[in-house]
Amino acid sequence: MDRELRVDWIACEAFGMCHDLAPDLVALDDWGYPILPSPSEVAARAGDVQRIIDCCPARALSLVRRDGRTQGRRQQRSIGAVPHQGPRLRA
Ligand code: SF4
Repeated sequence: MDRELRVDWIACEAFGMCHDLAPDLVALDDWGYPILPSPSEVAARAGDVQRIIDCCPARALSLVRRDGRTQGRRQQRSIGAVPHQGPRLRA
């Protein structure tokens, strides 16, 4: 089963530790946010991917199966989350 590495952009603090641990797997953009590997790279480097997930200080990384089911540790944080309702308009 293909898995995709995802980042919670709200939680990510742009510390860059994921890049420091696997610079050939995760690049950083101009603001220090990660540019994540493709599913085929994730499959080929499963050990390194799990290591950067475990070491992310913001717990912002997770593995998601291509069918949409989360496998990483981030799934607990989404339970009970209130979806964004968009801006409120004044009458
Ligand atoms: S280690 Fe975590 S917090 Fe830091 S840049 Fe990577 S995903 Fe973001």
